[in-house]
Amino acid sequence: MSLTEEQKEFQFAVRDFVDSEIRPVIGDYYERAEFPAELIRKLGDLGVPGVTLPEEYGGAGMDMLTFCLALEEIAKVDSGVAVTLEASVTLGSEGLALFGTEEQKKRWLPRLASGEGLCAFGLTEPSGGTDAGKTDTKAVLDGDEWVINGAKCFITSAGTDMTDLIIVTATTGPDEVSTIAVPKGTPGFTVGPAYSKIGWHTSDTRPVFLDDCRVPKENLIGERGRGFAQFLGLLARGRLAIAAISAGIAQGCVDEALQQAKDREAFGKPIGANQSISFMLADMQMRARTARLLYRDVAGVDMDSPEFAGEAAMAKLHASTVAVDNARDATQIFGGYGFMNETLVARHWRDCKILEIGEGTNEVQRMLIARSMGL
Ligand SMILES: Cc1cc2nc3c(=O)[nH]c(=O)nc-3n(C[C@H](O)[C@H](O)[C@H](O)COP(=O)(O)OP(=O)(O)OC[C@H]3O[C@@H](n4cnc5c(N)ncnc54)[C@H](O)[C@@H]3O)c2cc1C
Repeated sequence: MSLTEEQKEFQFAVRDFVDSEIRPVIGDYYERAEFPAELIRKLGDLGVPGVTLPEEYGGAGMDMLTFCLALEEIAKVDSGVAVTLEASVTLGSEGLALFGTEEQKKRWLPRLASGEGLCAFGLTEPSGGTDAGKTDTKAVLDGDEWVINGAKCFITSAGTDMTDLIIVTATTGPDEVSTIAVPKGTPGFTVGPAYSKIGWHTSDTRPVFLDDCRVPKENLIGERGRGFAQFLGLLARGRLAIAAISAGIAQGCVDEALQQAKDREAFGKPIGANQSISFMLADMQMRARTARLLYRDVAGVDMDSPEFAGEAAMAKLHASTVAVDNARDATQIFGGYGFMNETLVARHWRDCKILEIGEGTNEVQRMLIARSMGL
């Protein structure tokens, strides 16, 4: 699939930003497990979080592929930064743009589009995430307000200073799941301390608690009882974006390991002169290409069509598997340095595993693909 001139221009602008502003400093943020708010704001200035949003709310009105190209570039160097934008856009602002009322869009989208604010999305609960329809969190209408009680876990960007709101799923009646916006600072809405994670140190992940949390009834997003269908559609978009992030890691690993194979010498010659290393790199290059090609191909499928869920699942399953394979091989090529946090490949190795788990595990992706085949 060939990119338009506009897409290429945006891709190059993001690549330049990644090389000049993110690459030099991100290792230190990672080491300190510090959320890089300043970098996220600057990516906002570049237009990344608003690229798919309608122009009237501060966006650029471009397509999902353009956003994915940006995520791919960022993930070559740090997938924690990429996922911060991915979660806020595909599960947050895209959902508001698709299902929100005019008032909700005017209230929240301009800040989300500009990168001043972030949106979190709370679906997973302590009792499980894969069975996404089984929601223990409850919202009950009391006069003009929803009263929400429950808990969510592993929520991306739940506790950053930039977070404006969290969209939570809750049962609003028997067999009825809805989505409701909870602005930061609402009494009864609290976040726990950040989890200690093996990777994604630059992304904020926290548990969320809703304890008699009251929000106006107008904070319902979309139709009451349509929450399950809504977030299934958003998750499919999110999976395409996770495939782009995975493709970015896969290529980032090739770039780093190729340079190392040329620079590092053993037995008086570059290690890349050994067929065992050069063949490993050849396989890595081929895998990165297939991950990229597949997600970009799937980006051309109508996201509202019934085929999209299976297609996006395929892109995510393939790309995340490739990211793990390439990160493992890149680490091997780096030898002992590959086990040191200071190297980018070591960070990719720690970060890649979550790609096979988040936004639906790879078992779930296989279920979706099989279902799309009529099984
Ligand atoms: C860093 C991070 C960030 C995250 N961000 C968010 C976020 O922003 N918002 C959010 O809502 N969630 C988020 N999550 C949660 C994530 O989406 C879930 O962890 C994931 O969906 C899996 O759910 P679970 O952890 O409850 O695993 P479980 O549902 O307990 O599954 C455990 C294992 O059983 C397998 N399994 C379950 N059912 C079946 C079945 N029927 N057939 C075969 N295998 C099965 C699963 O594939 C998995 O391997 C995040 C998680 C992490 C780690």
